Amino acid sequence: MFILKGIDQLTNAIAKAKKVRPRVEFDRFGRYRVSGSKGYYMVICRKDERGYKTVACTCKGAEKGLACYHAAAALSLHIGLARQQQTA
Ligand SMILES: [Zn+2]
Repeated sequence: MFILKGIDQLTNAIAKAKKVRPRVEFDRFGRYRVSGSKGYYMVICRKDERGYKTVACTCKGAEKGLACYHAAAALSLHIGLARQQQTA
C-alpha cells in the first residue's frame, strides 16, 4: 500500500503500464482487477480517515510500498471516473 502524493511518483509505473498494457476490470468505484504476470491483482483506491489517497495492490511490489504498474493502470481509470462523478 502506498500514499499517492502526486503524479510524479507514478511516472515509472505509468511508463510500464503503457508498455505492458494490462487489462483493467471495473469491480466497483475504487476497486479494480488488473491483469498481471500471475493472474489478476486487486487494486483498491480510497481516501483514508486523514484524507490521504491510498492505493493498495495485492502484488509483491505494492506490499513493499512501491507504486506498481497495476496501480497506475487502475488509477488512470479511477481518476477518470472520479472526475465524471464530480461533474455529474
Ligand atoms: Zn501491483
